Amino acid sequence: MSKKILILGGGYGGLLTALTARKHLSVSEAQITLINRYSTHQIITELHRLAGGTIGEDAVALPLTKLLKGKGVNVVVDTVSEIKPDDKKVLTASGTAYTYDALVVALGSETAFFGIPGLQENSFTLKSAEEANRIRTHVLARLDAYKQSGDKKDATIVVGGGGLTGIELVGEFVDKLPEICKAKGIDFDDIKLYVVEAGPNILPIFPQELIDRAVVSLEKRGVEVITGVAITEATKDTVALKDGRVLESNTIIWTGGVQGHPVVANSGIEVNRGRASVTDVLQSTSHPEVFLAGDCAVVIPSEGARPYPPTAQLAWQMGETVGANLAVFFKGGKMEKFEPVFSGTLGSLGRKDAVGTVGGNNIRLKGTPASLMKEASNIRYLSHIHGLFALAH
Ligand code: NAD
Repeated sequence: MSKKILILGGGYGGLLTALTARKHLSVSEAQITLINRYSTHQIITELHRLAGGTIGEDAVALPLTKLLKGKGVNVVVDTVSEIKPDDKKVLTASGTAYTYDALVVALGSETAFFGIPGLQENSFTLKSAEEANRIRTHVLARLDAYKQSGDKKDATIVVGGGGLTGIELVGEFVDKLPEICKAKGIDFDDIKLYVVEAGPNILPIFPQELIDRAVVSLEKRGVEVITGVAITEATKDTVALKDGRVLESNTIIWTGGVQGHPVVANSGIEVNRGRASVTDVLQSTSHPEVFLAGDCAVVIPSEGARPYPPTAQLAWQMGETVGANLAVFFKGGKMEKFEPVFSGTLGSLGRKDAVGTVGGNNIRLKGTPASLMKEASNIRYLSHIHGLFALAH
């Protein structure tokens, strides 16, 4: 009899689960339903470019129905509100209840605000195409306001958090804003662009040589990089820093970190600091018919080791492992262990500059080779999910 597979989330983990499961399970063996908040699969590693206005929404938001065309996957656009693993049931915001024989939770992560006063209410975040559009529209509107008012708050952008999300975004802004300002008749020298990082360095995942290179590249183009100082409070038009400084700005973009998804944390599935605990084959440690892919799970490679980071490349690989293991779950055999391959990390610093490591920390890239490699890795992903076809049609 046909089994019911329910996949929650259409990001990297959820999409790759659906595509892979279908390679191993025919339509008569399994009905697959995928529920996602948006009708699109979003390439979140490219959202900074949408926020900056370098690319359009079509390039980062690919319709799930196109990507899954002919695969026999039922796509539902709805928001998951509750998972009831003991009843094998999932509830959505529209009031629908779904049952399953196997559940895949791939809901991703949420922005962490760490309880910093005023931050959540007064900042923008960059986790979806919708949010990227909101940032771009707001920045353009503030520049128009500045033209009228000459008020410095309208010409100041503060990015909180100097991880890859924050740095890629500020790199995009500093490249794009000069031409936007010129078109609007604003002197780019009037614009203040800050990135504030609490730790001693931006991009701490990279070796010092690449960090230094990133700082020089950004500062040369006009970004003020503040390190070793945490943001402690935000209001509608101020950002307070731990050292007592107050930056006057009405554009605060918070990229200070991510946390587990609350629906997962509150589901009754076993969690570790809000992210689902998994076995080495990516089954939930508490519910064997529940599999996990992506940021909402925590994968600890070996006892006492640090968990793997919440990245797109791992979510993608987890989805492929889960897709294959779903077939084994129903048809028998030996499940695949999750053994990720780390192809490297690339961070763009704008349209023509980037830094990155390939093959552990052994090969370090900067400038054009890193930019080209970053572009190639996006194209590789798109071709893997047949997204280039979806883009073209
Ligand atoms: P992150 O956690 O990597 O970085 C957040 C940064 O904010 C940290 O450096 C932290 O010290 C800083 N911070 C925290 N509190 C602060 C405060 N009060 N004031 C100032 N700074 C503060 O988050 P991210 O950049 O969103 O990345 C999340 C994950 O996604 C990471 O694993 C990252 O590697 C991955 N990612 C990868 C890419 C890529 O490969 N190009 C792009 C984006 C994100």
